[in-house]
Amino acid sequence: MSDEPAPPSRASGRRSVRPSALPRDLMAEGAAAGAWTAHVVTLLPEAFPGPLGLSLTGRALAEGVWALDVTDLRAFGEGRHRAVDDTPAGGGAGMVLRADVGARALDHALGRARGDVPRLLLSPRGRRFGQAMAADLAARDGVLLFCGRFEGVDERLIEHYGLAEVSLGDFVLTGGEIAAQALIDATVRLMPRVLGNQRSAEEESFSSGLLEYPHYTRPADWRGRRIPEVLLSGHHARIAAWRQAEAERLTKERRPDLWRARLAQQGRPEEDREL
Ligand code: SAH
Repeated sequence: MSDEPAPPSRASGRRSVRPSALPRDLMAEGAAAGAWTAHVVTLLPEAFPGPLGLSLTGRALAEGVWALDVTDLRAFGEGRHRAVDDTPAGGGAGMVLRADVGARALDHALGRARGDVPRLLLSPRGRRFGQAMAADLAARDGVLLFCGRFEGVDERLIEHYGLAEVSLGDFVLTGGEIAAQALIDATVRLMPRVLGNQRSAEEESFSSGLLEYPHYTRPADWRGRRIPEVLLSGHHARIAAWRQAEAERLTKERRPDLWRARLAQQGRPEEDREL
């Protein structure tokens, strides 16, 4: 599909609309103060912070626990129409983001980045994002995320900047923005002070190599379904044992791959046959 770039007047008009919860100045403040910063290069700057500006991540953003620095790819486009894409060399459908335009935007974003900031390109071809990568990124000074659009970006941009391709999963989105937001959300929530109760990040799915056990809350009896008795017993050791057993049962049932990896890690691969 061809993309007719919006004329600059319309683009700047759109920029004045602020659907997000936080003014841009506030977003940049934390970056200046040395907070962990997500530098995002995107054709849709108005998509940020989006949901990241709400609830726990939004509060942490406002408090300067992390910061967001958005670079508008369009501002670095070519000519009067600020073109950012062109037809693929060799023919075929769709449009490709230009290397020269992407480079100007990346140089701008990198000029604002401080310290150890991995450069990533959201891409369905990339290494699969997961909890371990989120934990690794949370321990750095920030991350630079280039959001693709259309058919993707000119390969030379990836090579020249050594962009590491990261995928959210085996499906194709229309652009990298939602993937970038998912990556930022999963990373930021691992930082101290973002979740009200730090223990919840340690106990939940994947951190232990197991899926999480089921949760219940009031009412104790809902449409004839009762909360498992053990959870109402007040007996902490029995509750912990029940939760561990449920987590193991669910992981075996739903994610045999995770279960096998866990057994192998514990040096018990022979128990595979249990599955
Ligand atoms: N033609 C490409 C798909 C382009 S989709 C291909 O077949 O591989 C447009 C943009 O959306 C991509 O450049 C990337 O930034 C983003 N995107 C799409 N799917 C994604 C995924 N699973 N994970 C991360 N980013 C994705």
